[in-house]
This record gives sequence, C-alpha cells and structure tokens, in this order.
Amino acid sequence: MTGRFITLEGIDGAGKSTHLGFIRDWLASRDIAAEFTREPGGTPLGERIRELMLSVDTKASLEAETLLMFASRQELVSSLIRPALDAGRWVVSDRFTDSTFAFQGGGRGVPEARIAELERWVQQGLQPDLTLLFDVPLDVAKQRMAGNRQLDRFEQEKADFHQRVRDAYLRRAAADPRFVVLDATRSIAQLQLDIAAHLAQLAERG
Ligand code: ADP
Repeated sequence: MTGRFITLEGIDGAGKSTHLGFIRDWLASRDIAAEFTREPGGTPLGERIRELMLSVDTKASLEAETLLMFASRQELVSSLIRPALDAGRWVVSDRFTDSTFAFQGGGRGVPEARIAELERWVQQGLQPDLTLLFDVPLDVAKQRMAGNRQLDRFEQEKADFHQRVRDAYLRRAAADPRFVVLDATRSIAQLQLDIAAHLAQLAERG
C-alpha cells in the first residue's frame, strides 16, 4: 500500500495555505495518516534554504537559486516524502517542483530542459498524484496580500514576473492530467467543496 502525494501550487496570494487546514481536517476525518510539508523547506536543511531564498537580502544567480530549490527538495524527498509514501501515508506539500518550473522557469527564464534534468535526478520518477493549482488573476492575489505582512523576495517581484509565473503554471496544467485548475476567485466554501470532491476521488483510486 503506498500513500498519495498531493501538491498545492499557485502564485503568491492565490490561497494555497488557506486550504491546508481544510485538507488536514478532511484526511483526519477519514483516518488517513498524512504528513504536511512545504517548499522550499520541510526539513532542517530545507528550512535554512527557505530562509535564504525568501530573504530580500539574498542575491543569487538564476542557476544558484534553481539548484538551492532542488537541494531543499532532494532532502525533503529522501527524508520525508518517499518514506511516508512507502509507509502508506499521504503527503501534502505546499509547493513542489511545479513551483520551480513556474518561478525559476517561467518567471526568471531558466530553460525548462535544465529544470527537467534536475527533476529526474532528484525525484527518480516520483511525481504528485494530484496537483491543485489555485489560479487567480494578479490583481486578486495582490489585493489578498495587501497589508498582510512584509513581502518576501518573490512576492516583491514586479507584476510581469508574476504574470509569467501564472502563465507557466497554466501551460503545465494544460499538458498534464495530474493537475486540477481551481478558479480560486471563488469563495473559500465553494473551493472546499471542490477540493473535497477531488480528495474523495483520489482516495477511491486503486
Ligand atoms: P498563498 O498561500 O497561496 O500565498 P494564502 O492562503 O496565504 O495564499 O491567502 C492569501 C490571503 O487571501 C489570506 O489572507 C486568505 O485569507 C485570503 N484568501 C484565500 N483564499 C481566499 C478566497 N477564496 N476568497 C477570499 N479570500 C481568500
């Protein structure tokens, strides 16, 4: 029995983190054992990389940024994701490799083939079973983040960066059936109904 691997993706402010609690409750109510994690981060090394990557003081080349994201991911896959899935537990991650394709690829212009190469090395065929893409127009995301807190290194990028990130996500989603694109402009309650239906489908899958 192997667990299921779910990832949450979207531009900053789309609403990913808001729904983590709902997913946690949904799985707990069905006695499904699950791990919750996030990227970059999720391990002691990964959390240090997260701090570096989100700090507005960090200067990094495109390549260094991409490699650090995969360094964090390698640690997370080998120490948490693989062991949990092998033990039959589900794993829910706030961001995973689609974020690298969207932010470093779409946003910053790192060639997709380079990212795919690192993906193969680090994941050895591991892919999410379900990726929920929270999709909102930029102005909605911006409004949701307004006044929240200080913006991190990615959040403070210009609008055209976030537009390229969103476009890259949508292109990936169109090409791969593991994605479910959620119109995240809807109410939290409406989104939860939708998310519950997709979780139920995944739980029933043999
Ligand atoms: P992300 O994790 O994708 O960056 P968050 O989950 O932190 O985004 O959401 C950003 C803000 O938007 C939060 O203040 C949250 O309460 C609000 N929010 C999230 N989803 C919705 C929604 N569907 N409708 C209205 N507000 C929302």
